[in-house]
Formats: sequence, structure tokens, C-alpha cells
Amino acid sequence: MFNTLGNLWQQGMDVVLPPSCPVCDAYLPRGSGGALCAACYGQLPWWNSTQLLPPPLPRSLASFRAPLLYEGPLREMILAFKFADATHLAPLLARLLYPALAGLPPAVLVPVPMHRAALRARTYNQAALLAQQLAKLSGLPCEVLALSRIRIGEAQHNLTRAGRLRLTKQSFACTSALQGKTVVLIDDIFTTGATLGACAGALKAAGVVAVHGLTLAYTPPGT
Ligand SMILES: [Zn+2]
Repeated sequence: MFNTLGNLWQQGMDVVLPPSCPVCDAYLPRGSGGALCAACYGQLPWWNSTQLLPPPLPRSLASFRAPLLYEGPLREMILAFKFADATHLAPLLARLLYPALAGLPPAVLVPVPMHRAALRARTYNQAALLAQQLAKLSGLPCEVLALSRIRIGEAQHNLTRAGRLRLTKQSFACTSALQGKTVVLIDDIFTTGATLGACAGALKAAGVVAVHGLTLAYTPPGT
């Protein structure tokens, strides 16, 4: 009953509001809602690692990969996804991230957590939404609550770099039984690697065998 009503509602909405590209609002063919238009898809900044080398990694990470650079239409989508409640972008962004899982060993997907005060303010954790969609696509298990952020990472401007790194290291705790497992740690953006490194450190301290970092976008140094 509700499904039939839901379908009728969706069909009605398609007549009133044809699907549109989430970046430029261009109309899309019917049935392609939730996708990018061809022009925006063509402008996606795929990361070509023959032109731009990967960053130096924290020792706690076995590997790191990101399919895209943090610029162009992807940057607009991530900003909307992260700060403007555009949670409907999660399936699309996860589809862009999914091919980067190829070649990694079977693993548990774990998102980088937010501090509970930040989560209360934003109401959702964008890394968790990505990880859950990626779990649907890949069939891998996802442990959204495996890590918790026990300290807010920002607002340490007056500390030295070493001091900031030390504090970041103490910012996360693993609360799930993941001993002997391999984890793929999910986040939206890689900037310095300090957050991924600290999360991976907490997971390894809890007995995780190897932690691979996977983010949607990579921000090259100096941008
Ligand atoms: Zn577009």
C-alpha cells in the first residue's frame, strides 16, 4: 500500500520536477536521478598519480588511495555534502569512490568519527554516510561506531606541530572488537594525513592487523 503510494508520488514528482544534475542543475534524462550530467562528469578531477605523487604516509597506514583531487565540481559537491545537509549526494559520491576499493584485501569499513559535540551540531557524519553506501555497493561489513573521537581536534593553533600531532594521536579510541581484522578507513578528504594516521594508530593499538586509508579526494600540499 505505502509502496504503491510512494511509487505514484515518485512518478508524479518526475512530471513536476525532472531529475537534475546536483552541480549545475541541468535537466537529466528521466530515470537518471542521482547522477551527474555528462559535462560535469567530464570535469571531475581524477587523480593521475603519474603527474602528482602520493603524500608521505603516517607509519600506521599500510596504504592510501583517493580517486579524485579536491577541486572543481567535486569540491562543490563535497562542501554541500559536508556543510549544507546535501546528504542525498552520498550514493553518488560512494559510486565515485567504489572503484578505488579494487585490489585491497577483504576488510571492515570504518569511517573517521566526529566528536559527539560536532555530530550534535551537524546531525550527521559525512564519512559514515560514505562508508555505509560503500558497504552497500561492495558487500563489505561496515562498523560505523568502531572509532570514537574523544577530543576535538581543532583549536590547537597555539601548539607546535609536534604538540598538535601528539594531541591528534590521543584524539581517537577504538571501541569495537576488530582484533586480527583488516580495516579500510573512510573519510571524505585527505589533507595532511594526521587524522587518518591517528585513527589508524588507535585501530592498530586495538589489535587491527592492517589499516588502509581511502578518501574520496586528496588535497595536494600548497593548495
Ligand atoms: Zn552538471
